[in-house]
Amino acid sequence: MRIFQCDHCGQPVYFDNGRCEGCGSLLGFLPTKLMFIAVGQRDGGWSALAQPGLAVQFCLNYTHGACNWLIEAHDTQGYCRSCRLNQTIPPLNNEQNLEAWRARKGRTRP
Ligand SMILES: [Zn+2]
Ligand SMILES: [Zn+2]
Repeated sequence: MRIFQCDHCGQPVYFDNGRCEGCGSLLGFLPTKLMFIAVGQRDGGWSALAQPGLAVQFCLNYTHGACNWLIEAHDTQGYCRSCRLNQTIPPLNNEQNLEAWRARKGRTRP
């Protein structure tokens, strides 16, 4: 498992960490920078704590707990690069599919 760092406090974070264990910030993976960034709510959306000018949004699969990747706020596609590349997203209204989807995402490497 590749280890990243929280860009807010420097704490090492694992790829599937949802929150930094050091500063408690919510974390998301920003593939355009290949790093985890700590985000906070700002103006009804999300932005990077370390770069308040960087507005981001969570991938639509974040609401299913299946993805913690970020996309830039102006991106209208809704899904992150990883989810967009995945051709067969199962219907997630079924618990079994959801588990399988999460497990498969866990094996995906950037
Ligand atoms: Zn932190
Ligand atoms: Zn995604």
